Amino acid sequence: MSDNLQNKLTEIRNLCNDAERLMGFESIENETLQAICKCIPELLSLLGTIELQREEKRKETIGMLNDECSRLRKWVEELQSGMFVNCVYCGHRYGPEETTPVSMAEALKEHAESCPDHPMSALKAERDRLLEKVASMEKMMERVCSGSDMPAA
Ligand SMILES: [Zn+2]
Repeated sequence: MSDNLQNKLTEIRNLCNDAERLMGFESIENETLQAICKCIPELLSLLGTIELQREEKRKETIGMLNDECSRLRKWVEELQSGMFVNCVYCGHRYGPEETTPVSMAEALKEHAESCPDHPMSALKAERDRLLEKVASMEKMMERVCSGSDMPAA
């Protein structure tokens, strides 16, 4: 059950208890009201049960969809294993039925990370260059802050 609903139910239950106390349930005039108030907790608990069933149904559906996704992913892998896959940047070709235990999609992904023509290698080189720059600037900052770079007085 969602926290919001749980909080709302608690709030309503508390209100019912307050109302019950304030109205003085012994009095005959309040008999109808009394009956209604007595029904409310039952209704709330029923509502809670319904919400709980919905939650279980939702989890069940998510589980089924996850299973279906796994099945389809496996199917795609099987289809790809009977084909060649090419890197669109350098033309490197894998398959069919490579000896590698990984799927064709995995093989291509690994290739993309090291392919000299793939945009990712340019990005990686740029990242490495910038990381080096950051490291050297950090060293410079440390030297300046510790005063070792200051001219002797
Ligand atoms: Zn490539």
